[in-house]
Amino acid sequence: MFKYFPPSGSPITTKEILYWLTCNAFFVDKRKDINKSLRDRFKVEHSYLFTTGRGAMTVLLRSLKKLRNKAEINEVIIPAYTCYSVASSIQNAGLKVRLCDVDPITLSYNLEKLQKMPFANVLCIVSANLYGIPNQLQEIESIAIKNGFYMVDDAAQSFNAKYQEKEVGTFGTAGLYSFDKGKNITSIEGGSIITNNPELAEIIDSYYSKIPSNSVKENLLTAIKVIIYYLFLNPLLYWIPASLPFLNLGKTRYEENIQIKKYSRLVAPIALMQIKRSNQIAEKRIANGLWYKSNIEEKKTISKINESDQGKPVYLRYPIKVKQREKREAILTHAKRYGITKSYPKSLNQLKEIEEVLVNPGEFEGAEQISAQLITLPTHTFINNNDRENIKNIIDEMTA
Ligand SMILES: *Cc1c(COP(=O)(O)O)cnc(C)c1O
Repeated sequence: MFKYFPPSGSPITTKEILYWLTCNAFFVDKRKDINKSLRDRFKVEHSYLFTTGRGAMTVLLRSLKKLRNKAEINEVIIPAYTCYSVASSIQNAGLKVRLCDVDPITLSYNLEKLQKMPFANVLCIVSANLYGIPNQLQEIESIAIKNGFYMVDDAAQSFNAKYQEKEVGTFGTAGLYSFDKGKNITSIEGGSIITNNPELAEIIDSYYSKIPSNSVKENLLTAIKVIIYYLFLNPLLYWIPASLPFLNLGKTRYEENIQIKKYSRLVAPIALMQIKRSNQIAEKRIANGLWYKSNIEEKKTISKINESDQGKPVYLRYPIKVKQREKREAILTHAKRYGITKSYPKSLNQLKEIEEVLVNPGEFEGAEQISAQLITLPTHTFINNNDRENIKNIIDEMTA
């Protein structure tokens, strides 16, 4: 049977759809339950729900700025290779971007370079934890504390991952999660801030009370997306949405104007159920990730990421690097239907859109190498033992 695999999405199950329909038929609001389960799980006092992770990030950065309350302290350190939404959130919060290079072997910050950066105007540092692989979070946190700035632990791709036995997203001053389509758990849209800092929470509270909710039209559109996602994510049908160019599936765009909205009651039942079975979702991803890790062989053209042994990744996808450009291009073109994708096409220093807010333009070797070489393999629950075997064989053949 012909299969076309989505790159990362977790399926929304029939049970979840039925629960979603029932809750909405009776106007049940599950947002409180989501907040409670996040607070219990991550042992935090405060959590906030937004329609997007980037909206959450924008409010969080504005709140940190207000908490610090010094006009000249307006820079946010981010890795030169991370999700474009992080950079656009900084711009939307009225702050500046300071890039730090990434170690292409670990995908985490290059700690040596980080320690040498000028910190005088730094408000905070943001982690990345891409593909569910934790950064060296404790080390980053120490640098932030030592130098007197905040840390945001961006766990948008790392719900369920751990570093030194501690949940990713709980390091630093505040954590961020996303419930968007390509993430570990999904309700099509959604994002969350968690924090244990009471002063910060007070500021976020005051912003949050003024944020609008989705319009009826926006909610209707989201409901349609839920149904399409539920129906078409299956590998037997995914070729249909994948062949519709206007859906822009898998494309990462830099969003100039981030809409900040409260998370909608409409999709909350889905996120709640996914959070409750997040361990089960993660289990499958981890099993597939570990399988690739022990079965894909390093050779002249292929190298793997050397994860920190302190981390427990969830492998939202499994990243590898293909050194030869033509071979990488060939894989990305011909093996697309196996859910193999290139992730972000550029490092952030190469992104035109952030020029205005970037305080340290220049070359970022590690990040540029990653953007030129990285490909990611799917790990989601649709990938069975045969599929991952096939994916490994295709990569072996195409890099022979
Ligand atoms: C997806 C993502 C975000 C933003 O989340 P959205 O819900 O898509 O706005 C932020 N940071 C990282 C690392 C992400 O992958």
